[in-house]
Amino acid sequence: MDSYINYCNFFGNAAPEKLLSEYGSPLYVYNENILRNSMRNVANIVTKYPFTCNYSIKANSNLKILKIALEEGLNCDAMSEGEIRLLQMAGFPNDRIFYVPNNVSKEELQFAIDNSILTSLDSIAQLELYGQLNPGGRCAIRINPGVGAGHHEKVVTAGKNTKFAIASDDLDEAISVARKYDLRIIGINQHVGSLFMNPDAFLSSCRNILHFAERFDRLDFIDFGGGFGVPYHKLSGEEAFDFASLTLKLTDLLDEFVDKVGYTPLFKTEPGRYVPCESAILLGKVYSVKTNADKKYVGTDIGMNVLMRPVLYDSWHDIEVIRNNEVVLPSDKKEKVNVVGNICETGDIIAKERELPIIYKDDIIAVLDAGAYGFSMSSNYNMRYRPAEVMIGSDGNPVLIRRRETFEDLIRQFT
Ligand SMILES: *Cc1c(COP(=O)(O)O)cnc(C)c1O
Repeated sequence: MDSYINYCNFFGNAAPEKLLSEYGSPLYVYNENILRNSMRNVANIVTKYPFTCNYSIKANSNLKILKIALEEGLNCDAMSEGEIRLLQMAGFPNDRIFYVPNNVSKEELQFAIDNSILTSLDSIAQLELYGQLNPGGRCAIRINPGVGAGHHEKVVTAGKNTKFAIASDDLDEAISVARKYDLRIIGINQHVGSLFMNPDAFLSSCRNILHFAERFDRLDFIDFGGGFGVPYHKLSGEEAFDFASLTLKLTDLLDEFVDKVGYTPLFKTEPGRYVPCESAILLGKVYSVKTNADKKYVGTDIGMNVLMRPVLYDSWHDIEVIRNNEVVLPSDKKEKVNVVGNICETGDIIAKERELPIIYKDDIIAVLDAGAYGFSMSSNYNMRYRPAEVMIGSDGNPVLIRRRETFEDLIRQFT
């Protein structure tokens, strides 16, 4: 694909330059059709058995996106009281919210209990606390199946090197703690890592948790976790995750399980990244182009405060260059550059030694696949205002879904 922007007519009736002058630069721009389309892909992973898809809202918690998730029939996962309250504000009933915290206070667990929100406990200590607060109640536990996977060691969330979940060796103890407080463990969940591009890696983790499920007499649900990947290298031909193949193979696996245990639980997944990722492009402006010690630097306003992934995980984001509202196609002359931001850190680099079309001051940089862990991880470092978020609606017209921050927003909490 030469240009994702052109391929999907990403900006609809809007012109990138006009968007930046109206809403400020940098700017997160979402495309509603792409977003709804990926929500539909995950909502239908399993059709033969009872199935729900819980969107993990830490990937992107814009209120408008949550309302669209509600319309598309997704349920949601929350990691904190704040996320629970935001979901309630978006209109999610409490029985469509699943709370999967780790290392939280008594008060936070009590908040979920008071709101009748089903909670998954991730350690023996938290299960014990939950039992004291809600004896006779229902809960789930998060299991570490002993193997993890992911695109970077920081996102591997199961296996031998992670803080997450109850180790498989501790399962018997968890069951006895539950018994002590008359807690009913109605479901088990896992989340083994992030950015699977291959259904087989996900399937082997499903096989693991189904194996654990056999140790319970009966479970209301089994939750396979999230982690579905998106092709961050789509401009060089990387293929999308193959949901059709996942559906076929997973359904076979579930057939086997249901046959063996003699009952049909609800099956769940909890994708975060996949849902909003490809629906957003981060736009920013080029303010300077210079050469330091033989290296070329393209200086933009897309700092690590706006998009942290390249600095945090060494992540790759494809980049397109826009000039006079048109994408500069890669068939034009290219050179290797470092695309950097405006934060006072040497590490503030969006793309290292990247081959891109020749870039000039006043060009627009478009960072693709910015919808997941983009805005939600942004910060005010260097007292920078977080950018606005705009959505190109199904009619092709832009709507502001979060305004740009102001100085007043940043100083509000000083006493
Ligand atoms: C973050 C998270 C997810 C979503 O992960 P993705 O890789 O974004 O799909 C799902 N479940 C839990 C418990 C998580 O912490």
